[in-house]
Amino acid sequence: MRRHLQFGIKQVHSSYLDGRLSPHLVTEQAVKDALSLRTLNAFIRLTPELALLQAKESEERFQEKQPKSELDGIPIAVKDNFCTANVPTTCASRMLQDFVPPYNATVVSRLRQAGTVLLGKTNLDQFAMGAGTVDSIYGPTKNIWSEDLSKDKWRIAGGSSGGSASAVAAGLCYAAIGSDTGGSTRNPASYCGVVGLKPTYGLVSRHGLIPLVNSMDVPGIFARSVNDCVKVLNVIAGPDSKDSTTIRQPFRKLQLPEVDQINLRSISIGIPKEYHCLGLSPEVLATWTKIADILECAGAKVEQVSLPHTAASIFVYSILNQCEVASNMARYDGIEYGHRALDERSTEQLYATTRAEGFNQVVKTRILTGNFLLLRKNYQKYFEKALRVRRLIAEDFSKVFETNNQAVDILLTPTTLTEAPLFRDFSALSNRDQCAVQDFCTQPANMAGIPAVSIPVRLSQNGLPLSLQLMSKSLNEQLLLTVARWIEAQVSFECLESGQLQAAEQ
Ligand code: GLN
Repeated sequence: MRRHLQFGIKQVHSSYLDGRLSPHLVTEQAVKDALSLRTLNAFIRLTPELALLQAKESEERFQEKQPKSELDGIPIAVKDNFCTANVPTTCASRMLQDFVPPYNATVVSRLRQAGTVLLGKTNLDQFAMGAGTVDSIYGPTKNIWSEDLSKDKWRIAGGSSGGSASAVAAGLCYAAIGSDTGGSTRNPASYCGVVGLKPTYGLVSRHGLIPLVNSMDVPGIFARSVNDCVKVLNVIAGPDSKDSTTIRQPFRKLQLPEVDQINLRSISIGIPKEYHCLGLSPEVLATWTKIADILECAGAKVEQVSLPHTAASIFVYSILNQCEVASNMARYDGIEYGHRALDERSTEQLYATTRAEGFNQVVKTRILTGNFLLLRKNYQKYFEKALRVRRLIAEDFSKVFETNNQAVDILLTPTTLTEAPLFRDFSALSNRDQCAVQDFCTQPANMAGIPAVSIPVRLSQNGLPLSLQLMSKSLNEQLLLTVARWIEAQVSFECLESGQLQAAEQ
């Protein structure tokens, strides 16, 4: 593990500019480290030849003193549910195991235009349905912070973007892209001790992100600092003619103030009482209280607020998710792309065998349940009702953010209820139960489309990261990340713990 992989993007960029480091050298090291940390299973596929070629091109730009951006020559990783031209994109599923898209997702092409280097595609739960990165056909991803990475004593990385979180936490790349439909960026960020941002719905294009729940999917960002996260957001955000759900207004790049310029006196922080829920670990609760106190001492107004429909979120999400999944998954029929079964008895049989072979149990269950919920006799009772309750959940947020006399700017909550669970405990639960516990704090933000960020705060007694979540009203990323940056500076969490890295490399 070389020290420069632990730098922030700004520092690497200035080292590229003055020649102390080169994109080629850094990329070479990143590839070496990724290979030596294969035990984490963060990557489904490394792309070393491509990465070294892109690094060489970047190096030439630096030699000509014409870098494309601050991200030029910076190794990044992308979750394997974003299309990458000529690089397989599998969704960790047998259905897409041999799928090679001819085009890049918008997020990927914007990162390429900025000169970043694609180190590889990262692991996930199949089709991003999960909260642990435990059921990929390529095997589960491990958490670098595990006390013991061997046998059955290791911890999950969280999910579904566990590979991206794990790669950033292990210092294999400076940032990674994930997706967030119900918490899949924030949850693994929380467990792996890195920053995980879910932007406002529509701020970042979904074009080329293989859909899970179109009305909630958002590309997410993993980084080891809030500043690095902002740099990536500034490159990928903004309208896209290829995604009609992107917000039309031009994106104004964020610029965070220096920490000592941040004044919390005019900021009001809400603590939603409903997030103090069953299953919240005492350590997470203590961390939450402590940060609320620190904010208050620094002059912020901290008050308890209520989001009364929070507990309904898990059920509503589950219904809407399965209904949209049923519709989205219809495209995998063995005809146009993806897996095709060797079954020529009839077209119907071909569809059926293809889908039976291609999908895992989780995907099949969601398709079946979704179709059941959408039956004419059930549609109003479940789907329509869920949409109405979704509206109530979104209105809860609007009320606390916009009511004149009691408005708050930022909500502070836990991200996950506990530290990262042991794989053996987590995998004893069904996918449904896993998500019901893991996503309690994260799903409401997807339901309302608002931005949310998870930041690591401290280590638990077991030496595992504990994180908190901040949420704000839509398109208020500037304030959200400013407060996150302030907290980050107070807690000085070391995202890269070298002891863990050495143990993992052995
Ligand atoms: N755990 C949730 C699910 O399985 C969220 C997944 C996600 O955000 N991609 O649906």
